[in-house]
Amino acid sequence: MDTQKDLQPPKQQPMIYICGECHTENEIKARDPIRCRECGYRIMYKKRTKRCILYMSVCVSKIECETML
Ligand SMILES: [Zn+2]
Repeated sequence: MDTQKDLQPPKQQPMIYICGECHTENEIKARDPIRCRECGYRIMYKKRTKRCILYMSVCVSKIECETML
């Protein structure tokens, strides 16, 4: 039930990341640097998993979701 975190999205679609600082959603493509467009913060949280969407506030606070650094 909760083991789907390795699902891969279609490669041509940019990933949506949530900034760990200002929580702005950023579309980041595979070759782009992981960095917030708004504040330049470099810790981003993936939004693609269902758990992350449903428990975003928990993810951000506990950093248990997938973290890009
Ligand atoms: Zn930011």
